[in-house]
Amino acid sequence: IVYSPDYNITFMGLEKLHPFDAGKWGKVINFLKEEKLIADDLIVQAREATDEDLLVVHTRRYLNKLKWSFVVATITEIPPVAFLPNFVVQRKVLKPLRTQTGGTIMAGKLAVDRGWAINVGGGFHHCSSDKGGGFCAYADITLAIKFLFERVPGVSRATIIDLDAHQGNGHERDFMDDPRVYIMDAYNRYIYPGDGFAKRAIKRKVELEWGTEDSEYLQKVHTHVEGALNEFKPDIVVYNAGTDILDGDPLGGLAISPQGIVKRDEVVFRAARSRGVPVLMVTSGGYQKRTARIIADSILNLHSLGLLGRGRPACALGSPSMQNMVTDSAKDFSNLSLQ
Ligand SMILES: [Zn+2]
Repeated sequence: IVYSPDYNITFMGLEKLHPFDAGKWGKVINFLKEEKLIADDLIVQAREATDEDLLVVHTRRYLNKLKWSFVVATITEIPPVAFLPNFVVQRKVLKPLRTQTGGTIMAGKLAVDRGWAINVGGGFHHCSSDKGGGFCAYADITLAIKFLFERVPGVSRATIIDLDAHQGNGHERDFMDDPRVYIMDAYNRYIYPGDGFAKRAIKRKVELEWGTEDSEYLQKVHTHVEGALNEFKPDIVVYNAGTDILDGDPLGGLAISPQGIVKRDEVVFRAARSRGVPVLMVTSGGYQKRTARIIADSILNLHSLGLLGRGRPACALGSPSMQNMVTDSAKDFSNLSLQ
């Protein structure tokens, strides 16, 4: 489970201006600790993605644009950010997002080594290599997949299962016409971003109506996740597990219960792990006050069902020192430059 206290955005109440709980990531970890699922030493500490890391996907032109506070205000949808000096924006807004991005990259490596990894943050699926939006400033999903393709022998095919309430137009634009990446996306068809061009990259598109409820939703998720994994055999599944499908979410417009979200995550993990495919999960959108509890409950459920066991037999890890080696290699992984 990948996390850093640096994930959380807190600055003079600024975070309260966005309709979300900007401390949800830390709360997930606190719930997991309360339930004794994880101790401090079992959390892999995320490192902030460096410029060099980000340039694996992003253009220098795009990264330079983030040096303008008004650009960041537009991307994060927090208008007052426009009036802050950029060094404050960098430290208080972008650094948390870069750390979450570093966490997704590390979690990709850990997932391949161990069979699964969960980044408690990340899932910025509206950002592509040269354009941010919808609170997404860095393309962490694209980055994690490109790092794996470039640096891990044997990883050359990825499936993205995007079950956030919104269409994942960022990774879709980045992997348009890339035969190595299969994208399944289920989203409310009437809300942001409605990116018709990006939709062309979706191999399995599940467009949902306003107020879709558990039974219909779970049946569709089950059918299409199984279908996607039968149709294309990936080396990694990147699961964008947005919780803005929750009933009452001000942005998502769907009506899924907390139990429905827990079940949904179970369906995805079961489908991937039963096929021996590693899963990297990121938490993406969903910022109601009760969201953190639901994410923690879902992780506890996956654990109680044995879906968070050690990786495929060939990757089983023995001693604690071996585990540390894996953790260290994941840390190094996110700080190495490409050839
Ligand atoms: Zn969303």
